[in-house]
Amino acid sequence: MFTLSKTAIVTGAASGIGAAIAKRLAKDGYNVAINCSSEKSASERGAAVAEKCREYGVEAECFVADVSSFEACDKMVKEVKARFGSVDVLVNNAGITKDGLLARMSEEQFDTVIAVNLKSVFNMTRAVTPIMMKQRSGRMINISSVAGLYGNAGQVNYSASKAGIMGITMSAAKELGARNITVNAIAPGFVQTPMTDVLPDNVKESILGATALKRFAKPEEIAGAASFLASDDAAFITGQVIVVDGGLSM
Ligand code: NAD
Repeated sequence: MFTLSKTAIVTGAASGIGAAIAKRLAKDGYNVAINCSSEKSASERGAAVAEKCREYGVEAECFVADVSSFEACDKMVKEVKARFGSVDVLVNNAGITKDGLLARMSEEQFDTVIAVNLKSVFNMTRAVTPIMMKQRSGRMINISSVAGLYGNAGQVNYSASKAGIMGITMSAAKELGARNITVNAIAPGFVQTPMTDVLPDNVKESILGATALKRFAKPEEIAGAASFLASDDAAFITGQVIVVDGGLSM
């Protein structure tokens, strides 16, 4: 068991923003639990992320769990605690899209996105809370989206999940502040990842045109905000939504 370093769990860390956050927290000195949705994702992509993390001299390992499952999250958090000795930072990053206009959106499209993007945040937060309460310290960082602040056509399900994350963030921050646990959210604009690679060019062009910095974010730029929120410099920040969108939403 390793107890010298602090430990971070990052959900959906096999790719995109999650992978960048895992690597950044490893660079910052955290042992990292890299959550992957399946054994396939762990072996195909998560293992390489863990390898990169270990180059910073910390421990890193993949933990397979579907974060929409309450039981799977509870089991994974117990495994991480047993393996690394503590859970100091939780990053709820896993997410999916199943876009479609409201008039045609199926119940399955709505329910699945809510389960993976929003219920997962409850599942993981619920599992980690007793550990952090006992430690009397902890950092929870939830990856929301500007879609949760302002809405987005074709994303009723996704926007609802991301707005819901902000509700959990603020309520949990109020409940857990007295135990020295901070809970914050990051609301990215458009970030270049597998999630956005599939969007049609005309959608990308219109978002680019509305972004003040006239470029898309790199996953590492979201990881920078997560690193800050996990750091001592952010000790007095809680219940906040930090928008990292290159000026898209102003
Ligand atoms: P991505 O598809 O690369 O990453 C999402 C990760 O979540 C994947 O590794 C996927 O395997 C994992 N995942 C999906 N379902 C899961 C499940 N049930 N259990 C465990 N893991 C699961 O996309 P990304 O852009 O890196 O997205 C990361 C987060 O950032 C998401 O929550 C997304 O909504 C949010 N976000 C992304 C953007 C963007 O422009 N890319 C903007 C705002 C917010």
